[in-house]
Amino acid sequence: MLTIPKTLFKGEKKKGDQIKRIAVLTSGGDAPGMNAAIRAVVRMTIAQGCESMGVQRGYAGLLDGMIHPMSASSVANIIQRGGTILKTSRCEEFMHKAGRKKAYEALRIQSVDALVVIGGDGSFRGARALYEEHGVPVIGVPGTIDRDIAGTDATIGFDTAVNTGVELIDKIRDTASSHDRTFLVEVMGRHSGMIALHTGVCGGAESIVVPEIKTTVKAICEGIDRGVRRGKTSSIIVVAEGCQFGGAAALEKELKKAGYAAKMVILGHTQRGGTPTASDRFLASTLGAVAVEALLSGVREGMIGVKGSEVNLTSFKKLNGKPVGIPPELMSIAKKLAV
Ligand code: ADP
Repeated sequence: MLTIPKTLFKGEKKKGDQIKRIAVLTSGGDAPGMNAAIRAVVRMTIAQGCESMGVQRGYAGLLDGMIHPMSASSVANIIQRGGTILKTSRCEEFMHKAGRKKAYEALRIQSVDALVVIGGDGSFRGARALYEEHGVPVIGVPGTIDRDIAGTDATIGFDTAVNTGVELIDKIRDTASSHDRTFLVEVMGRHSGMIALHTGVCGGAESIVVPEIKTTVKAICEGIDRGVRRGKTSSIIVVAEGCQFGGAAALEKELKKAGYAAKMVILGHTQRGGTPTASDRFLASTLGAVAVEALLSGVREGMIGVKGSEVNLTSFKKLNGKPVGIPPELMSIAKKLAV
């Protein structure tokens, strides 16, 4: 149950009344639930008596001045849609001071007072630079399937990505058991094993390979053998794309060398798309709305995230730390359940 502490913006100087026009953009990798977050930002902005603007194509569109008014009805019927209606991009030019100056000018021309950035940690580094160099108030909303941002236990899109992975594993398991096969299922997550851990536990995987915890081909083979001794004729091994082997394709080769045949399925971008789960919609709606409240309460920079069950605010300066890694106890439970 998500709660919003009454003291969240306590101590902020009340300079939120200087903000009349708030723009929103999505940046970096897309994630299911970004649309729900856009909707929340737009609707809360309007509900608070301010004007809402949308920026197309993330920082790239910002540089090109692709900023347009958003109405309450412009975000109707999008809460259930994956992707982002504002579109997203990666923008090399914004990595440089001159690019950010151009972005600042574009915001000034359109009289935008503050910005909400929905994206991942890269997008927040850009947001921080825009704030520090030009004083533009910027609030970040964590939108990434990877759940790899320091300062928040939850990110928009993670739950949907896990559910998609589990649904696909259930299907793969049917064929794995019909043909007595071992399947390597590669999931996304970049350098994080969070998606792999959750997908693996919920899909009943026999083995989970994550970047945070090193293993050996021998240990994986022993796991397969253990299953065979118990009468298992098939197994599913969930492999994080960022694991030590460099993904499922490389691990498949290693297993082959060790005399173990395995089929490989790369879930890839299927996990980035699709209808967001109720949990992601709720998270996105809450964080998007609170981001606007933060700006109007006088907060000038930082990310609105979740710690435990509480919505929290973390300064961009504190996002450099490592994200909460995989708790070893959970991996240990996963191992025991997969015997
Ligand atoms: P994500 O936000 O999903 O982590 P990226 O890391 O690709 O995705 O970042 C998205 C965009 O944010 C980049 O294309 C770039 O425009 C901007 N960005 C990333 N890192 C920085 C940085 N250090 N300084 C300024 N802008 C950055």
